[in-house]
Amino acid sequence: MTATTHDNENPAEEVTSEITDEVYDIAIIGGGPVGLYGAYYAGFRGKSVVVIDSLSVVGGQVAALYPEKKIYDVAGFPQILGRELIEGLHQQALKYNPTFLLGESVTGRSVNLDSNIHTLKTASGRKIHTRAALISGGVGTFTPKPLPAARNFSGEGLLYFIPNPTELQDLDVVVVGGGDSAIDYCLMLKEVAKSVTLVHRRSEFRAHEASVKELFESSVEVITDAEVTSLLGDDRLEKVEITKGDEVIYRNCDRIVAALGFNANVASIKALGIDVIENRHILVNTKMETNVDGIYAAGDIATYDGKVKLIAVGFGEAATAINNAVVRIDPKEHLAPGHSSDNKG
Ligand SMILES: Cc1cc2nc3c(=O)[nH]c(=O)nc-3n(C[C@H](O)[C@H](O)[C@H](O)COP(=O)(O)OP(=O)(O)OC[C@H]3O[C@@H](n4cnc5c(N)ncnc54)[C@H](O)[C@@H]3O)c2cc1C
Repeated sequence: MTATTHDNENPAEEVTSEITDEVYDIAIIGGGPVGLYGAYYAGFRGKSVVVIDSLSVVGGQVAALYPEKKIYDVAGFPQILGRELIEGLHQQALKYNPTFLLGESVTGRSVNLDSNIHTLKTASGRKIHTRAALISGGVGTFTPKPLPAARNFSGEGLLYFIPNPTELQDLDVVVVGGGDSAIDYCLMLKEVAKSVTLVHRRSEFRAHEASVKELFESSVEVITDAEVTSLLGDDRLEKVEITKGDEVIYRNCDRIVAALGFNANVASIKALGIDVIENRHILVNTKMETNVDGIYAAGDIATYDGKVKLIAVGFGEAATAINNAVVRIDPKEHLAPGHSSDNKG
C-alpha cells in the first residue's frame, strides 16, 4: 500500500506509509477474559483475528491473580474456578482459529489514512496490520515480578503461572510468595505434586485468613522469614537453596513457582494515541468506540458514566464492540449477529 501525506487529526497518532503483510480484520489488544470473548465473537462474525498479550498465557487478571479462586457472578455458572473460566473462554475463542501472540506488548500504533488500516507495533518490533482493533487491556500490560534468585538460571523449571496443575503431577514443587496466589497455588498443588514447599520472606501472609489456616493444617511445608537464594541444576532445575537467617537449607525441586505479584503498566496503552483519561481509562460511546476511528475498547480499561468493572459486563461490551466493528469494516454487514444457536456456533 502506498504512502499517505494526509494531515492526521490525532496528533499523537503516527501515519504509516507501507502495509505489506497480512491484514487482520480485528486485532485484540489484551487476552484477558474480555479479549478472549471478543476473539470468539469476532470469529463468530467471520472475521480474522489476532490476540496480543504481554503475558505468556491468556487470562489477564484472572490467570495472573486468582486462577484458583472461585468466581460466583459469571452468568450461567453458579461457581467456577478462575482457571476453568479462562480455559473455557480460550476453547471458545479457538473455535475460529485466531492468531495468538503471547509475550508481546503493543507499544505503538500508526494508521494509513487512505485505507484506514492501523498498524500496531510491538515491543519486539513486530508490526500487525488490522482494519479495526479492540483494546481490552484491563489495567495495562501485566508482567510477573521476577524471582531475583533466578537471574542466573537459564534451565527449565521456573514458572510464573500454572494453567494446568496436572503438569506438576508427582513433582517436587517450591512456591515463593506470601499472597493469595502463592497460598492458593500451594493448596491446589498439594493434591497433585509429590511435595510442596512454600518459601516466604516474612512471617505474616497477605492472604485470606481461612486460606492461611488451611495452609498450616495441610501437608505443605511452610518456611517463613526465608528466601530462595539459588536455583541449582543445569538444563533443568533439581534443587533450590533457601537462606533463613544464618541457616542454608536445600530442597529437591523440579519446578519453582514465583508468585510474587505482577507489575501493571498503562504506558503502552497511552502510546497508542488514544485519549486516556484519569491516567488509566479509555472513554467509549455506546458502540464502545474510542476517540479514534476503528479503535474500540471494552472491559476494565473502558469507561463511561455508570461503568461497573466486572467480567460479566466486559463480555457484553466485547460483543457490542465487535458487532459494531464488523459494520464499520463492511457497512453491508448487519449489526445484529443472529443467534449462535442457529447452528452457527
Ligand atoms: C483478586 C481479584 C478478584 C476478582 N474477582 C472478580 C469476580 O469475582 N467477578 C468479576 O466479575 N470480576 C472480578 N475481578 C475483576 C476482573 O478480574 C476484571 O474485571 C477482569 O479481569 C477484566 O478483564 P479484562 O479482560 O478487561 O482485563 P484483564 O483481565 O486485566 O486483562 C487485560 C490483559 O491485557 C494485557 N495488556 C494490557 N495492555 C497491553 C498491551 N499494550 N499489549 C499487550 N497486552 C496488553 C494484560 O497483560 C492483560 O493480560 C477480580 C479482580 C481481582 C484482582
